[in-house]
Order: sequence, then C-alpha cells, then structure tokens
Amino acid sequence: MINIKSQRELDKMRRAGEVVARVLHRMGEIVAPGITTAQLDKVAEEIIVKSGAIPSFKGFPCAYGGIDFPGSICASVNHVIIHGIPDGTTLNKGDIISIDVGAILEGYHADAARTFAVGEISEAAQKLIYHTEEAFNRGAAQAIEGNRVRDISFAVQEYAEKNGYSVVRDYVGHGVGREMHEDPSIPNFVGHEKGVRLSNGMTIAIEPMINIGTWKVKTLKDKWSVVTADGELSAHHENTLAITPNGPEILTRLY
Ligand code: MG
Repeated sequence: MINIKSQRELDKMRRAGEVVARVLHRMGEIVAPGITTAQLDKVAEEIIVKSGAIPSFKGFPCAYGGIDFPGSICASVNHVIIHGIPDGTTLNKGDIISIDVGAILEGYHADAARTFAVGEISEAAQKLIYHTEEAFNRGAAQAIEGNRVRDISFAVQEYAEKNGYSVVRDYVGHGVGREMHEDPSIPNFVGHEKGVRLSNGMTIAIEPMINIGTWKVKTLKDKWSVVTADGELSAHHENTLAITPNGPEILTRLY
C-alpha cells in the first residue's frame, strides 16, 4: 500500500523538487502590488516547461464537476485557502497570496506551497504566515521512521491551536511520488486513527492550511476555490519531503 522509493526514485524526486522550489523562489521575487495571478501563472509555467518538466495541476479534473484546472499554479488570495484559479485578479498592497505548485519530472511529482506578503501587510497577517510555516516545521520534524502519521498531525495541530489558530480539516497532506496524491493521507489534525507507521523511503507532502478564524470552509461557484467560511485570512505552507535514515529531507527547498 505504502510506496517506498528506491534511491534512484528519490534522486528523480529531488530533481522534480528542485524545479518546484525554483518556481516558488521566483514567485517570491515577483509577487508585488499590481501583478495579476495570471501573470504569476505564466512565469511559473515557463520555468516548469523550460526545466523539461510538466505542470501537474494543469488539466487536473475537478472533484465537483467543474472545469479541468486551467493553471500551473493555484493562486489563493486572502480568505481563499487553496485551489484559487489564476486569472485577471490584481494583487493589492496588504494582500497575502498562497501559491501552490506541482511539477512532474522523469515521471515523479513534487508539490509545494508558500504564502507571500504583497507589499506591506498587517501584523496579524505576518504572524499567520510565520506560524503556518512553523506549524509545517513542527510536523516535518516528526517525519521519521517509526513514528506514525498521527505524530505529524498532532504536532501541526497542537502548535497552530496553541497560537490561537484553527487548522483546515476538509483538505489534508498526502503521499506523493509516481502520482500527485498517493497513500497515506496526512491530516493536520488528530482524528480517531493512528495512521500508518512511517518508514524510510516514504515521500510525503505535509501541508498545513491555517486559519485566523474558523476551520470551516466553503467552495466557491467556480467549484475550485476553497475559502474560509467566515471570510478570515488563511495561509498555506507545503513541502514534499522524504523520510530518510538521516531524518526528514525536504525536497522542495533550494539549498
Ligand atoms: Mg499537496
């Protein structure tokens, strides 16, 4: 059931991860007031294609009967949590934007997301972005052989809630590799199940989605954009990582 990757496969995933990491690095450089989310998407797609990779989100079928996903990134502004469709929306000073990117290289997927400030943002928004990344870090630190999925979930939820935030429950992290979504699911909250035991060679995407207000969500009429039910801000931080004898290795980060 659980995909254990060989060293050869891990090397391919490292290369796919580097493409995604480069896209996100570039996004951080060009996110600014005045740019549209469609412009960001175009730049991201160019980097992916020039790297010989395939944008994995583009053409992804909609779970709710909407159009196939038209972008190479998900661009989720302010109260949009995930799956925002890149379009003519112009970013304004004070916005936050979560950008999620997926790429396939040599048959292997990498998937990651960051939340960026658009110009100067409120202190509340800054803190949300900081704590969302830190919640990811706490979860990632538990991605070691012998632990269970629940250890990751607990670390993320405990950190987020201790700091006064809620964690999205309707969407979760996942195994990643030959497919964008593989077993196991990696929730950001603790449920009834312990989850599978983690072992070396597993590759997973840990992706806390952290809200200022309620954890409850709604899906917009476009059948893609998932927003906070109360309209409050949300942030997202995701990396693809490998569980290795040396600990968690983040594959979607530039070193
Ligand atoms: Mg993901």
